Amino acid sequence: MSRVLSVPQENVATFLFDTKKMLINGEWVPSLSGNIYESINPANGEILAKIYEGDESDVDRAVRAARAAFKGEWSKTAPAERTKLLNKLADLLEQRAEEFAYLETLDGGNTITLTRHAFVPSAVAHLRYYAGWSTKLTGHTIPLTTGGNFHAYTTREPLGVCGQITPWNYPLLGTVWKLAAPLAAGNTVILKPSQQTSLTTLLLGELIIEAGFPPGVVNIVTGSGRKIGEAITNHPNIDKIGFTGSTEVGKGIMKKSADTLKKITLELGGKSPNIIFADADLDKAIQGAFLGMFTNQGQICVAGTRLYVEKAVYQQVTEKLIAMAQKMKVGNPLDPTTQMGPLISKEHLQTVKNYIEVAKKEGATVLTGGNILQEGELAAGNYLEPTILTDLEENCTVVKEEIFGPVLCIMPFENIEEVIERANATEYGLAAGVWTQNLAIAHKVSNALEAGTVWVNTYLKSDNALPFGGYKQSGIGTEMGYQGIEAYTKTKSVLISLN
Ligand code: NAP
Ligand code: MG
Repeated sequence: MSRVLSVPQENVATFLFDTKKMLINGEWVPSLSGNIYESINPANGEILAKIYEGDESDVDRAVRAARAAFKGEWSKTAPAERTKLLNKLADLLEQRAEEFAYLETLDGGNTITLTRHAFVPSAVAHLRYYAGWSTKLTGHTIPLTTGGNFHAYTTREPLGVCGQITPWNYPLLGTVWKLAAPLAAGNTVILKPSQQTSLTTLLLGELIIEAGFPPGVVNIVTGSGRKIGEAITNHPNIDKIGFTGSTEVGKGIMKKSADTLKKITLELGGKSPNIIFADADLDKAIQGAFLGMFTNQGQICVAGTRLYVEKAVYQQVTEKLIAMAQKMKVGNPLDPTTQMGPLISKEHLQTVKNYIEVAKKEGATVLTGGNILQEGELAAGNYLEPTILTDLEENCTVVKEEIFGPVLCIMPFENIEEVIERANATEYGLAAGVWTQNLAIAHKVSNALEAGTVWVNTYLKSDNALPFGGYKQSGIGTEMGYQGIEAYTKTKSVLISLN
């Protein structure tokens, strides 16, 4: 069956035609080894594109370009000029939003509704937010405690070359979150997208050139985490690593970057509790719990995977969630009516399915879902039914470990002290939710929760101005807001004797 392609779809088809090169020093270049890997469409298992696969020699080229740009033209660029370039990039992305949404859906399996209405517009807004910060970085004048005839002040300076490593779950937005703040602060950047979803970052590279960023300010090196990620971590001439990904890989990066004492920001995994009290507006709470869990196939770091429901309403909440999960439309992510697309890969699908099997062995009851979808066209993709588990103890594997798929653990609780203790009984601390109409409970519980973000009577809402970061083993450092750009600067103290 032939199908007429829209203009954005035709542009994407043209983009996908050639083997994709890496962006180094303002030019598109093949890897030095000439090696190539394939990017797969998770909705049908087909090869979407061929991409050059880099190694440490390519990282080294990128570092040299980024260092030269940092010392050269970029260091002389006025803050207002950086504002202009970032705004220009935002404008170009906005103009080609549909292309990016379509390509992101093909490459990562995120539904077109999400890529079109959330990921791409959020990326545009994020670029504009940090474009504004370029001109607002200031130091202080410091009155010395010991007095005397001195003039003392601080300035904020960029760190230098930043190696930015991102995951596959919202590829374009993840890249932009690792790009805008460092550039606004005057750093140069090497982007390393996940090998599974490098395409929208590479397409963004075209816009970076078009916007007029000088060569070497932004470089993109493609290839595996093991090769490129490790080479970035070990490289002596990189000043900072901004990493989003799993806690395990984050720990490895922290250990290895000690050798060269790199600055690090780590945005890591989560196992977030979401707590519904009996007095909550239940319709809103159920909706929030559902979207907080199943959006993006549950492949969201802040997903509310541990749902604690006060006993009096446990039955009612559970029944409604089961009904919603069973009605959920799972399938082709390009269909605007689809609510849940495929998981990122066959391997990841199997990992998530294994978690469900382990849960059953440990005594859990599957209330709904639990199966890989195999009918018709779905068999070729990585589709799993939205799954709800119950009869779980706190020490069950699925309650303790991050699954990163559409699997909700629902558990009843009796009282506030108990639920606070259970919610905090995790090594993670990324996010948490509380649903109640009682102001005292809302404050008490949000104060007590060990998490970098606590949502009350809402879930998933984020904002460029609102700091975001993990407590405990969910990360180090903060993104968004002033803290997000401060993390890409260092403080210089200048002390002038006036004698
Ligand atoms: P991952 O395996 O840790 O990979 C993340 C990135 O690191 C990818 O680019 C990966 O490259 C690279 N990488 C892999 N091994 C590496 C190594 N040894 N050294 C350096 N880099 C390496 O995580 P993922 O499975 O892609 O993503 C899911 C995880 O990210 C979940 O744990 C999720 O919670 C977390 N996450 C956290 C946040 C947050 O803001 N806190 C947001 C989103 C996701 P390749 O993929 O090419 O191998
Ligand atoms: Mg892919």
